[in-house]
Amino acid sequence: MTNELHSYDNLHVLFIAAEADPLVKAGGLGDVAGSLPVALNNIDDGKNLEIKIAIPFYNSIKQKNLPVTKVSDFEIDIIGGKVSGEIFSITISNLSFYLISGEPIARFDETYSSDFRSDAEKFVFFSLACLQLPDILKWRCDILHAHDWHTAVAIHHLKMNRHPSTYLENTQTVITVHNLPFMGTGSEDALRQYNVTPSRNKNLPAWARELPLPMGLAAADQIVAVSPTYAKEILTPEFGCDLQGFLQTRQSKVTGILNGIDPELWNPSSDPAIFSNFDSSHLDEKLKNKRALLKEFQLDFEEYTPLAIMITRMDRQKGIDIALEGLRMINDLPWQTILLGTGDKRLEQECKALEQEMPEKVRAIITFDTDLSRRMYAAADIMMMPSRYEPCGLSQMFAMRYGCLPVARATGGLVDSITDPKTGSIGPGFLFSRIDPRSFAQTMKRAFDAYCSSSTWKSMQLEAMSRDFSWQRSAEQYLILYQNLINQSD
Ligand code: ADP
Repeated sequence: MTNELHSYDNLHVLFIAAEADPLVKAGGLGDVAGSLPVALNNIDDGKNLEIKIAIPFYNSIKQKNLPVTKVSDFEIDIIGGKVSGEIFSITISNLSFYLISGEPIARFDETYSSDFRSDAEKFVFFSLACLQLPDILKWRCDILHAHDWHTAVAIHHLKMNRHPSTYLENTQTVITVHNLPFMGTGSEDALRQYNVTPSRNKNLPAWARELPLPMGLAAADQIVAVSPTYAKEILTPEFGCDLQGFLQTRQSKVTGILNGIDPELWNPSSDPAIFSNFDSSHLDEKLKNKRALLKEFQLDFEEYTPLAIMITRMDRQKGIDIALEGLRMINDLPWQTILLGTGDKRLEQECKALEQEMPEKVRAIITFDTDLSRRMYAAADIMMMPSRYEPCGLSQMFAMRYGCLPVARATGGLVDSITDPKTGSIGPGFLFSRIDPRSFAQTMKRAFDAYCSSSTWKSMQLEAMSRDFSWQRSAEQYLILYQNLINQSD
């Protein structure tokens, strides 16, 4: 095993994911599947590394009427028949994207359906279609890199059905875990219908042998968690979702690589979506963004009132309830907040309830709007992330890049990307450990105190903006991992 990047020869990597920015994005997975391949390509200008990305051809992508090229038809055997589909391709940022179409994908308009079973068939169909791609393209696949439960079945099925005459003959497999609790519940019927046999791994609890993510985790040659801290956390009862015992048996194959962001796509000095561009030499310009955003949402601008935001999936994971309760506890202090998110209806309503309770302080915007998220990162002083768990988290990185300091729970990737001034050195954020509104409120107060000292705040902002969260280092770690897998298999 090596930790260094060596010269490598013509490495072929197939990325398979449920979403990839800029074609489709519902959350951090889309950011990663869109930007990691670009960063890998940048390591050697794509000379010795060829990456192809496959995603489902959702109706939302079809509606964009992009200049796609038809590549091939295909069929998948199911019990009592066949399901047919088509493959299209398009090149974006010098990368080849393959769009898999078929009835199980076209049946629903949303990227993710609220009905487990329909999502199950969609992603089982997609995973099996991805396994046909190398043969169709006559393209040797050295590394099959799957992400989360949606594509985990591909790794499992490849292991169970490896065929010596195909372009997948020596393929090594990697699965990146972005969110362990989402395992593909309710997939059993779809797996049986598509002739996918259960995992035979005896260390896997019986309940998990017909669930896509555990099947992929059992079959993969390498498991990557999206931060070093999350890689350790998933081996424990608190975060292991009852797979910790099994994951411990695979511990030597588990590693953590922190996700990165694309510093060009997220650049306050050139972002066309924000009101006034700024950089660390012109930090005063940031204030114009705050004034503009507050005006947009009919909130008064007050000189020493910090603006705290949340931009998030509305999910219990994200600790939205903790933030709402914590904000109530410090209602006597001056602050304003804008909450942006969609998801769990009850949490959406709770955000709206806070807005009604404190109309002079709070706005809750229940929608998914990337441009608005950019205006918020540019305008805000504080990013609230009281997550119960956070495998990596990207929002804190975007926030810091835009001079907005995170108040976050010390878990997963938040630990690996935020340093707190409490630790001694000046740091670009504030961390707390206990999952309770009081700890969150106390930490917000700590942030407000720092905000009141403009020199302290400015030096923290400058430190945050100077942090390198680009993919470069992480992409190199992925490349080393690919190389080690290939060398082992020789
Ligand atoms: P997760 O992947 O768990 O949802 P991350 O912090 O890794 O969380 O990534 C969330 C991504 O989704 C960020 O790019 C964030 O800006 C974006 N995002 C989340 N909710 C919204 C929303 N309602 N509108 C726009 N962007 C959003």
